[in-house]
Parts: sequence; structure tokens; C-alpha cells
Amino acid sequence: MRNRLSKILFVEDEPEIRFELKRFLHRYSSDVFIACNGEEGLSLYKKYTPDIVITDIKMPKMNGIDMAKKIKQISPNQTIIFTTAHSDNSYFLEAIEMQVDGYILKPVDLGLLKKKINDINKNMELERQKKLYESILDDVAQMQDTMLAVYDEHALPVFFNQKLLTFLGYASLSEFLRAHESLSKKFEINEDCFFPENTSDIDWIKEIKNIAVEKRIVSMKDSKIVESKFFLVSLSEKTQSKNMIVTFSEITSIVKERHQYMHEAHTDALTQIDNRARFNILFDKAIQRSKENQSDLSIILLDIDNFKQVNDHYGHAVGDNVLKLFTALILDNIRTIDSLSRWGGEEFVLLLPDTTLSNAKDIAEKLRLMIEKYDFGIDKKLTCSFGVTAGHNGDTTSESLFACVDKALYKAKNNGRNQVVISQ
Ligand code: GH3
Ligand code: MG
Ligand code: MG
Repeated sequence: MRNRLSKILFVEDEPEIRFELKRFLHRYSSDVFIACNGEEGLSLYKKYTPDIVITDIKMPKMNGIDMAKKIKQISPNQTIIFTTAHSDNSYFLEAIEMQVDGYILKPVDLGLLKKKINDINKNMELERQKKLYESILDDVAQMQDTMLAVYDEHALPVFFNQKLLTFLGYASLSEFLRAHESLSKKFEINEDCFFPENTSDIDWIKEIKNIAVEKRIVSMKDSKIVESKFFLVSLSEKTQSKNMIVTFSEITSIVKERHQYMHEAHTDALTQIDNRARFNILFDKAIQRSKENQSDLSIILLDIDNFKQVNDHYGHAVGDNVLKLFTALILDNIRTIDSLSRWGGEEFVLLLPDTTLSNAKDIAEKLRLMIEKYDFGIDKKLTCSFGVTAGHNGDTTSESLFACVDKALYKAKNNGRNQVVISQ
């Protein structure tokens, strides 16, 4: 790309110098405006806003210093070069105070002037490019439909795009930072969502990088605090600028669909309690927790006696209703930390954390009596058989525990039903 040449205003009262420099300056400028004194120079300046002003000091009507002062009032960063003769020394201090961009002694050394103009052109071009890149970058960042944050090499936030600021309800990044230590303070504890142990920016970024890319999901509420939204977080590898770009792409509908799908996959359609798939997950988790905490864990397997006869006598619809009433009855009589799942058919399983075998046996006995007495809306009493067991040592596995409780239930059935059998 060819650099754009500067517009130059040249102010000089001596015709010979004016003539010589004018020709010279045309080589380095797209436009050269020539004035004979400060007054003329100032009016040309106002008309053409040149990039560079080169001016003599001693001139009639208005001298170069006074003109420069007026120009600086209009545009404080204006580039001004003085051409001075030794005899202009008295003006020199004033010129220095004004922070002009250069002095060239007369007679003007053209090589030196050329170098100065080239340097100024180069700087101006760099400045123009920087501004261009900044505005392009800003446009790109603001155009994003995703929320975007930029962190510097010390993990300090340096930029939030408009979409992110609007979501958070702040007008600027500094306003947000006055209210919150870090963006992670807005993250919520939510199912399957990332939540950092330490919330400072440097920590949460480090922590989230340690988890699989597809699991980098955070939940946040927008400034209106309507409902939680979900975002997939992407972090750029180290960029050339050493900044890290973090984007938050909204995936709320996907996450909600997934939650719904998981709920359906884990819920029994008839009774609306957990199904076997969900039980297996809860069971493994409960065993792990009991090992970690050295706590008790019991399970009860229960199977309605002769349920086939209910269907045969009253029809399948009544059988279904009995299963629903049965579920509600058990749920009403267990603690909230216990969980009831439908193992299949008319067989259910109860998971009882922090419960010894002896306590679990008492619970089973209590439930057995309750079922026996309960009116299920059929003129026939319903009974249930129970197998009970507890995890007792470090090698307990879900398989071994389940095999044990299944054996106990089998015994209860074999021994005549409507009873509780424990197995260790
Ligand atoms: P046992 O005391 O040996 O357990 O006898 P049972 O009749 O309860 O056991 P069996 O396994 O022979 O029969 C279970 C019955 O449960 C048969 C099946 O039709 C019925 N059943 C299973 N699931 C459902 C259901 O969702 N709705 C209805 N209405 N009946 C079901
Ligand atoms: Mg049965
Ligand atoms: Mg059965």
C-alpha cells in the first residue's frame, strides 16, 4: 500500500526561500499551501487543515510563534516545524515551550528537512494504520453475536464487547469492575456447569482450561435476572498480542433440551419416579460417597406380592393406578435424602444413605405393615416382600450389593412373601 502523502502548509516571507522550498516540498506532499506571513498562514490553515506546518519565525503582520500558538489552540497535536535563523534566538525559548516538533536552522538543509518530513509521514501513517486496526477490531468485536471478553497476559480484563456488557447490565468494563471482582462472580452453580473453586480471573481461566472443551459450559443470569442462561466458553490460544480472547456462545436451548431429554431418559413414565438407569447412577454415586465419608449405606428391594392377580382381576388400568398409589405411599414415608426408583414392573428399590442395616430393616418392616393396611381401592389387601442389605466394607460394589439384596428378596418370596429378609 502506498503511503498517503501529507498536506503541508509552508509559511515564509522571503520570496527566494519560498520559491526554492515550494518546489522541494512538492516531492513529499500531495498538497503544498504557501503563505507569506502568519496571518495568511493561519487562514490557509483553517481552510485546509494541513498535516504539517513548516514556518519561518520572523515575519511581518503575524510572526511564526504567534501563528503557531493560534494553531495549537485549534488543534493541540498539530505537527509544526520552525525554520529559524541565528538572529531569531529571542523567540527560541517560546518555541521550545510550545512543544513543537522540530527546528531547522536557516539556510535550510534540504536533506534534513527531507528526513524530518519522511519521519513525520511515517509516524502519521503508523498512527493512521493503528487507528484503522483499532476501529476494525472494535467493529468485529461489537458485531459478534457472541459475548466476548479480552484478557491481557496477566489475565486482567481489558475489553468486554457491547453484547456482554448489555447482558451484564453495565455501560462499561470499568463500571462492571467496580461492582465485581471478576466475571466468574456471575457464574452460577448449575447442573453440568463449570463452577470455579477460586473466582479471581486468573484462577477461573486456569481451572476452565483444565476441563474438556465440550464441558466448558457456564450458567449466568442476565441483568434482568429472568432465568439462567447457558454459554459455551471458548478460549483462544495465546494470540500474537499475548491477549486471551474468551467468547461466550449461548446454548441455552440446547442445554434445556438436553436436560429435558435426560429427565425423560431417567424418569419412569407411569410413576414419575427415577427409573433403573437413574438408579444405577445414584447407586454408584452413593457407594462412592459412603466410602469417602466412611458412612453407612443401605438398600431395600421391594416387590409387590402376586401383582399379576391384580391385573388379572381388575384389569391393567387398575393395576397401573395401584402402582401409582403404591409409589406415593412409599414416597410419603421416606426421608428426602432417600430415593425410590422403579427397578421394573412391580419391583422397586430404595436407596438409604447414612442408614445402618438394622435401621433399614426397621424401615422395611414399617413400610411392610403400612402397605398391608393401606386401602388401594380394590377389595383385596396388597402385600409386599422386602430384601434388605447394607454396604459394609471397602470392596462393596454396586453389583455385589445388588446381588446380595436380590438374594434376600428371593428368600422373602420363597419363605411365603409379605416379609422382610436381610442379607449381609
Ligand atoms: P410375585 O409375588 O412372585 O412377585 O408375583 P407377581 O405376580 O407379583 O410377579 P410376576 O413377576 O409373576 O408378575 C408381575 C406382574 O406385574 C405381571 C405384570 O403384568 C405386572 N406389571 C408389571 N408392570 C406393570 C405395569 O406397569 N402396569 C401393570 N398394570 N402391571 C404391571
Ligand atoms: Mg411381584
Ligand atoms: Mg416381580
